Amino acid sequence: MMKGFSNIDTVQGVCENCEEETILVAIVTDYYRCTNCGADTRQHINGSIRYIKLTESDKAYIKANNDTYNTDKR
Ligand SMILES: [Zn+2]
Repeated sequence: MMKGFSNIDTVQGVCENCEEETILVAIVTDYYRCTNCGADTRQHINGSIRYIKLTESDKAYIKANNDTYNTDKR
């Protein structure tokens, strides 16, 4: 079942964690998960778009804003 898949926000970019050009899937606004290495990154726009590694406060933000992020995977 591919139901809902079209609603997933994906972007192409270079992941700063694995340094590969890859597809990144939005998990929370401005936060994306690399489909290559699985790392979560934050979209940073400063002239060009980068996907940078998360800080601890970024991780806390994601947990606070995405109920399914930790445990409740459906
Ligand atoms: Zn990556």
